[in-house]
This record gives sequence, structure tokens and C-alpha cells, in this order.
Amino acid sequence: MDNISSKLERIDQQELSQRNPQAFSEFISLLPKAEIHLHVEALVTPKSLHALNQRHQLYPECKTSDELKNKLDLKEIHDLNEMIDQFIKVQSFFREEEDFALIDQHIPEYMKNNQITYMEMHFAPSSFLRNGLNFNGMVSNFENEVNNICRETGRDVRIIIDLSRTFGVDNAMNNLNFVKSYLDSHNDSRIIAVGLGGSEKTGTPKEYGPVFKQAQQWRIKTVAHGGEDSGPEQMWSTLKELNPLRIGHGTCSFQDEKLMDTLRDRAIPLEICPTSNVITGKFMKKMSEHPIRTYYDRGMVVTLNTDDPVIFGIELNHEYNNLYIHLNFTLQEIVQIIRNGYTSSFMSEQDKVKSLELLDKTLEKAIKQVYKI
Ligand SMILES: [Zn+2]
Repeated sequence: MDNISSKLERIDQQELSQRNPQAFSEFISLLPKAEIHLHVEALVTPKSLHALNQRHQLYPECKTSDELKNKLDLKEIHDLNEMIDQFIKVQSFFREEEDFALIDQHIPEYMKNNQITYMEMHFAPSSFLRNGLNFNGMVSNFENEVNNICRETGRDVRIIIDLSRTFGVDNAMNNLNFVKSYLDSHNDSRIIAVGLGGSEKTGTPKEYGPVFKQAQQWRIKTVAHGGEDSGPEQMWSTLKELNPLRIGHGTCSFQDEKLMDTLRDRAIPLEICPTSNVITGKFMKKMSEHPIRTYYDRGMVVTLNTDDPVIFGIELNHEYNNLYIHLNFTLQEIVQIIRNGYTSSFMSEQDKVKSLELLDKTLEKAIKQVYKI
């Protein structure tokens, strides 16, 4: 470990005079990583949608996945509402519980491409439930597929059920009840936590406080999106009313010194998704302006994630390259952020130790291979 730190420090020293993005890109592609904030709907490819379209004949005139992509107008996203619209379009293809066996088709390739050994994925059941689908049916089809993937690839995928603030508190409480009874009857479930996503404009954290309190009384882990589309007051209220173990985004925190210090002192991890924040554009328009640099320097716990890889056309490795190229992160700092991904995750303590050992082992090899030391 000391050996690794001193080697990384040596490379960082050498790079003070000249950085080498090409070498970094190769280096980062070799390292194992955890990703703890992405949405399964954002891993659905046009190919999977095409398969569902053939099954349900929603757009019979579209004979290929490209034709379907054009028909649906799946292209650039400019803000959070456009992104939510795109989500809804993707969700509209899932008509039967069996369809959920197709939702995760892209996972093995995505994890392999980015050397992700452990992933926590949000799944939002609300709109499907409103269309008459059954929670247990959907989740068990989905979980069976995830089990197959984990068995075949040796990678680990866990599910966070998004209780959702888009459809009101009663809907969120119903979702929580579904999760509780599912967990009670499935000992080996991959559901690891519940979350609160959806439009920040539609529900205040205070309204959802009782739902989170109930989850916590049931010892179900909780996370919440916050400060992605609203300011520091919403973050304060998220901390106070929801008391989540992690916060999704927290992008606005840089506007409030006391808030940043509180997040640091309480060591609440932020699940940061830089490209998503730049594209939705609420607090910055350029990657070089992203506050992750400020948060890291202040000693806050930051993790790196993609949020919506297929929708934004990005991969986790791109996000690490962004830190190196646009935000001047050193190799030592980037390796610390990879470690944070594992330590902030909900995997068991034993698995965390194993994952960090694998990271150290791979670091040795990658440093030798890329930087020749
Ligand atoms: Zn998200």
C-alpha cells in the first residue's frame, strides 16, 4: 500500500510539468471500480427497446433499432425535465412483468467495459405499478436476470428501489410497503436500499420524512437525491428530514460553506455524476466548473458515477478521464475516489476489504504496465 502510494506520488510529481491523458486513460481502464448511482432505465439500449417493440408492436412501422431511435427522437438532453421525459419514453415499452428480464441486457457489457466489479442500480417501479403491473412479478423477473449476470460474470449488482417523489407521498409509502414485504419473503434479494428520486420540484423532503423514518425503523438503508435541481435549503432539509446514508448529487452544496462542512464532518458520501450535472446544466455549463474539485479539497467524501450512461452516451471511465483532464485531479486523488466508491457502498465489510485488496493488487500491475515503475 505504502509502496503504491509512493509510486503514485512519483508519477504525480513527474506530471507536474507534463500530464499524459493517453497514459491515464489506459491506466484508469485497467482499475476495478464500484458505481453506486445509476438508473437501470438509463442502461436500456435502443436494441432492447427494439426487442420490446417487436414483442408489443407499439410502433410496427419501425423495423430496426435505428428507425425506432429516430421515431422516439432519442437524442440530446438539455435539462432535468427532458431527461425525465426520455425516461418515461423508455419506461413506456415495459408492458408485462416478463419484459423486465430484458431491462438489464446491457449490464454485463457496461460493467466489463468499465471494470466495474460492484454496482448499485436504482429501479423506479412507480409508473409500471400505475400501469397495472405487479411489484413482485417485476422485481423477481428483474432479479432473476441480475442473478444470472452475477453468476456468469463474477461481478456483483445490487438494486435500490426508488420510492419516487413524482407521484406523491402515499405512492412512496406504498412502494416502501412493497419493498418490505418483498424483503420479508426473499432472504436472498438483491434489493439493498430504498432511494428518493424524481423531480425535486414536486415534493419537499419534509413531506417524505415519515416514509424515510418508517424505512429506517425497518432497518432498510436509505439514500436520497438532493441538490441536483434545487438549492442548499433543500439539501439542509434532506439531511434533517430524511437523514439518508448518502446523497445523490448534492451539486448545489458549493453555495453554502456551512453545508459543505456539515457534509464533511458527518462524512456523508455524495454520489457525484459530473456529465449528468453539466448536461442538465443547473449549476454549471462546463466540466471545468464542476464543484467536485472544491468538495474533494474540502475533505468531503465524494464518489464518481454516471447517473444515466446510455441516455447521455457516457461510460464510467469517461468520468474519471474528465477528472484528470478538466479538473486537474492527480492520480493519488483519483485512486482515493475509486476507494471511496467501495467504502461508501452498501456491500458487506468483508467484501469491502476484498475489493480494496483487489484494487491494490491491480494498481501494482497497472502502474508497472502503463508507467513502467
Ligand atoms: Zn440519479
